[in-house]
Amino acid sequence: MTYDPSNIFARILRGEIPCKTIYEDDFVLAFYDIHPAAPVHALVIPKGSYENHAAFVAGASDAAIAGFARAIGKVAAMVGVTEGGYRLIANSGANGGQEVPHYHVHILGGGSLGPMVAKTFSLHLN
Ligand code: AMP
Repeated sequence: MTYDPSNIFARILRGEIPCKTIYEDDFVLAFYDIHPAAPVHALVIPKGSYENHAAFVAGASDAAIAGFARAIGKVAAMVGVTEGGYRLIANSGANGGQEVPHYHVHILGGGSLGPMVAKTFSLHLN
C-alpha cells in the first residue's frame, strides 16, 4: 500500500479542511474525532506521510516515534482522561477496520468503554 496524499488527514495537515485542534508540535497534530465513539474521543496523527502503524515504525525516525508516543500521553492529559483511564486504538488495514489511510491513534475515554472488542467472531484458541 502506498501513501495516498489525498486522504482526509493529509488534507487536515495541509490546512485544506478544518479540525478542532487539541495540540500540535513538530511531530504531531491532535484533534477531536468528528464522530465521537466515547464521551472523549481524540485523534493523534504524525505529521509524516505514513499510511498505517507498520509504515510508521518502519519509516519514521526515532525522534518522530518518541515524539508521537509522548504526544499521546500529553493529549490524554489535556483532554482530561489520564486519571479516569482511557483506551488507545490504532486500526490498521482491512481487518483492523482502518478507514483513513494516514496512521493515527484514537484516544477514547470519559466513561467506561466496555469490552475491548466486539465478540462477534469465532475464537480459535487451540
Ligand atoms: P479509522 O477507522 O481508525 O481509520 O478512524 C478514522 C476516524 O476518523 C473515524 O473515527 C472518523 O470519525 C474520523 N474522521 C473522519 N473524518 C474526520 C474529520 N474530518 N475530522 C475528524 N475526524 C474525522
